[in-house]
Amino acid sequence: MKYDYLIVGSGLFGSIFAYEMKKIGKNCLVIEKRDHIGGNIYTSKEENINVHKYGAHIFHTSDKEVWEYINQFTEFNNFINSPVAVYEDKMYNLPFNMNTFYQMWGTKTPTEALEKIEEQKAEANITEPKNLEEQAISLVGLDIYTKLIKGYTEKQWGKDCTELPAFIIKRLPVRLTFDNNYFNDRYQGIPLDGYTTVIEQMLDGTEVKLNTDFFKDRENWENIADKIVFTGMIDQFYDYKFGRLEYRGLRFETETLDVENYQGNAVINYTEREIPYTRIIEHKHFEASESPKTIVTKEYPAQWNPGDEAYYPVNNDKNNEIYAKYEELASQEEKVIFGGRLGTYKYYDMWKIIAEALNCVKKEKKLIE
Ligand code: FAD
Ligand code: UDP
Repeated sequence: MKYDYLIVGSGLFGSIFAYEMKKIGKNCLVIEKRDHIGGNIYTSKEENINVHKYGAHIFHTSDKEVWEYINQFTEFNNFINSPVAVYEDKMYNLPFNMNTFYQMWGTKTPTEALEKIEEQKAEANITEPKNLEEQAISLVGLDIYTKLIKGYTEKQWGKDCTELPAFIIKRLPVRLTFDNNYFNDRYQGIPLDGYTTVIEQMLDGTEVKLNTDFFKDRENWENIADKIVFTGMIDQFYDYKFGRLEYRGLRFETETLDVENYQGNAVINYTEREIPYTRIIEHKHFEASESPKTIVTKEYPAQWNPGDEAYYPVNNDKNNEIYAKYEELASQEEKVIFGGRLGTYKYYDMWKIIAEALNCVKKEKKLIE
């Protein structure tokens, strides 16, 4: 065999695996079907602004080991994500906190806000939330659910909130303090010079072939290395034998505008169902980049069709059951390791991908040392 490892996908998972294996003298080849490295965290510098090509990426974690690991490759700025939501003619702070409650109901104290939430929760008569709708109403009441969650979520996922799992809404904090930080994590920020430089350092010294799809020449790739690390779609790897997993697609519309400051914030969400995009990102505000121009991206959720980029796994019961069958097959593989968001069909943020990659490297080293 020509290589110790063939790594399919140059996203965060594949790149960490390559970096760690190179450190112990293993010979890796990375193949990547896109024309650049980095997967969905890829950024490119335009007009002196790092543009997040696949949507806003804010790094956050409470895991000290993960934080120290990623800090080997970059320093982070002190960006704190504080998105604002627009519904009809009003703007609301996110995540759901005392500012939001004041803007929605005029409540000024935590007791007043809690009373309002409890009153709306009682009216909806929910004891054990069974889906996203019930979970949301029991967390923040009917008004916030109706104006800030229902429309956004249904366009984001293309499904009714009653058909979606509750865990999706539990990603967002609910706070009885005036704190607009979107995350609860101890560490947060944006790499000082974009994410691509992080991946470049991880892959420095490793052979990478771009524009190379594993499935276009599968037999060759299966015979080029002792082991394969696969970070693409697990159902495609098994030729959809247990059925197709569902994914959610996205379309990004990016424009350079001849104004210095378009919206005054990095992320503004549009929560009405009728507006076809979910958010507008103004990239320069992630890093306070100096530029006379600005670059904005509208993010449109889209139905996913085979061949499209699979941005989000749709982790409802039906898909999780199908995935469990693929996972069972995967666990019996001696030569193939599945990793990353698509390889393990999990809605993982970057910190979790790093933790999983380091875990995978640890297990692999135990096997070979
Ligand atoms: P990917 O980045 O998907 O990398 C997989 C790579 O494999 C891709 O480059 C792909 O082209 C390649 N590949 C797939 N199939 C093949 C094949 N057959 N042959 C060759 N190559 C192949 N996380 C956060 O922590 N904070 C955020 O703010 C955040 N925002 C996000 C916003 C959006 C819109 C999205 C979609 C995700 C966001 N994430 C965020 C999650 C983050 O993008 C992921 O955690 C991370 O990128 C996953 O890394 P990965 O290596 O698993 O996958
Ligand atoms: N969400 C919402 N309204 C908002 C922002 C988020 O209802 O203004 C819900 C929506 O269901 C979304 C989930 O919260 O899918 C998680 O949001 P997050 O920002 O974590 O999503 P991501 O950045 O992964 O797309």
